[in-house]
Amino acid sequence: MLKRRCIMNLIFLYILAAGMVYTAANMNFTTLDEAVTIMAVPVEVQSIIPVPDSKTETQVMAGRIFWIGSERKDQIALTFDDGPNPEYTPQILAVLDKYHVRATFFMVGEMAQQYPKVVRMVIEQGHEVANHTMNHPEAPKVDSQRLRQEVLGEAQLLEQISGKKIHYFRPPYGYFDAAYFQACRDNNMDVVLWSIVPKDWEQPPAEIIARRVAAEIRPGAIVLLHDGGGDRRQTVKALPLIIEAIHAKGLQAVTLSQLLE
Ligand SMILES: [Zn+2]
Repeated sequence: MLKRRCIMNLIFLYILAAGMVYTAANMNFTTLDEAVTIMAVPVEVQSIIPVPDSKTETQVMAGRIFWIGSERKDQIALTFDDGPNPEYTPQILAVLDKYHVRATFFMVGEMAQQYPKVVRMVIEQGHEVANHTMNHPEAPKVDSQRLRQEVLGEAQLLEQISGKKIHYFRPPYGYFDAAYFQACRDNNMDVVLWSIVPKDWEQPPAEIIARRVAAEIRPGAIVLLHDGGGDRRQTVKALPLIIEAIHAKGLQAVTLSQLLE
């Protein structure tokens, strides 16, 4: 059953990739800002999604998939997954506030239900809230119906708490499934992955997390960090170093809506 679903998803994603190439071939981009440059695809995603040529610029009109934003803006996006967390999210907010930086938080519904105040704190401080499913499932282990509910339930919950339309979805573990994609299209959301992965979930020392990010900073980059799901002290400690490295390169850290729209 699992194998059959995997094959079905692969077929779906090949059709999707073909559609993206077709769309790109038949579209005149007026500016590069409208295009998505696909590159730096994480390994776990490479095994699931057929990856277009690294230089290809593509766009699908609904339910787009982003790994990176425009290289023409002097901007970069910091993203934090798996919160809200009552301990680490406020600490991260304090650092972001100190540097006048805005970021995006991909929240898990079961955490948002427990800590709605932290969700509102994120919104009130000018950051963006985004969808990271209700319960953070491993996509290959659950059925399509459940995955769809994971996305739609979380969108509804976050919109209730935040009072804002949620624009972006990130699949847990980077597992991409056709059910996720369809749910995003139906709910007018784009899928956002990442281009810089400092692996903060492995909890290396803060200096190493910061160095891994600094080595890859470039315009349009999307940085994957975590404010929940484990001990995030090193991530909190790395954040000032990361922001200083971003500023040293003349870039501004912004929300995904600012980077991608
Ligand atoms: Zn996650």
